[in-house]
Amino acid sequence: MNLKIGIVGLPNVGKSTLFNALTNAGALAANYPFATIEPNVGIVPVPDSRLQVLGKMYETEKIVPATVEFVDIAGLVAGASKGEGLGNKFLAHIRECQVICHVVRAFANDDIVRADGQTTSEAEIESNAKRDIEIIQTELELADLETREKVAAKRKKDAGDELIPYLTDKPVIYMFNVSEADLSNAVRQEQLAALVAPAQAVFVSAKLEEEMADMDATEKMEFLASYGVEKDALGELVQAAYQTLGLQSYLTAGKKEVRAWTIRQGSTAPQAAGVIHTDFERGFIAAQVCKFDDLVRLGSEKAVKEAGLMRTEGKDYVMQDGDVVEFRFNV
Ligand code: GDP
Repeated sequence: MNLKIGIVGLPNVGKSTLFNALTNAGALAANYPFATIEPNVGIVPVPDSRLQVLGKMYETEKIVPATVEFVDIAGLVAGASKGEGLGNKFLAHIRECQVICHVVRAFANDDIVRADGQTTSEAEIESNAKRDIEIIQTELELADLETREKVAAKRKKDAGDELIPYLTDKPVIYMFNVSEADLSNAVRQEQLAALVAPAQAVFVSAKLEEEMADMDATEKMEFLASYGVEKDALGELVQAAYQTLGLQSYLTAGKKEVRAWTIRQGSTAPQAAGVIHTDFERGFIAAQVCKFDDLVRLGSEKAVKEAGLMRTEGKDYVMQDGDVVEFRFNV
């Protein structure tokens, strides 16, 4: 299960800066449109503090987090579906992603021009954000319209039905790039979130993320806390993506490795085993399951067993977030 998030947004909204922060990939960020000509791809670990806890408990050095892939999709500008900018190259890139992260500028600045050549003042933040959101939405709708026409024409020709994923069917998470002060400004955040409801909105500061580039995890968290924030952009976005797509993770732990696996909410034990290896799903016998919290509270697998909290589950068991699992299978 490979989570893939496509990052789109008008030029100069902070897309590349955020992509760099999310991936630490060091992609080009500059104050001009189309800094990113080809889509940049970065694969990063899904933040999960439970892994370190289990790593210590099982005395293993090998910790394997779940991963998320970011694609920085350039060139979605007004008129893109009709060939403006980089044209509609972005379509194929968006189709490959499960979720779109739309970065929206929500900071005031006189030096950084918007795609239309204007700047944004403090009073214009909401109205400009609203317009920017509509521009991108319109481009996606226009692109879909064209796809629909093509499908209709093709149907006439060979009557075959084809599955075409429309861009506007993809879930969108709106990532508002706000000022440091607005990171903890509930009023502003409510106003911005209302623009996109019921879609999810996350609030980040590309500028702060950039400043945190060289910090270690602890420094980063302290730094963010001083702005009244608990999570960095990666943490915010991944959490929103898991919620939007109905994903959760389960854990496997042993001396060899401690590892997180991504599954759909509602997955059964055999389906969860299938994420490790398809043979595990076919040959599934049972799952030995305990809760991460019980494991931490009681300190060891042995203590969990003694407390009667280690369960053996069969093929109908529905996985819960934070299950620590060992599968028995026959291959
Ligand atoms: P992109 O075209 O959307 O990829 O935008 P970039 O990430 O290249 O950013 C464009 C310009 O805006 C750069 O000069 C950034 O340093 C600046 N910028 C990005 N985010 C912020 C922010 O949160 N606050 C301020 N003041 N400047 C930002």
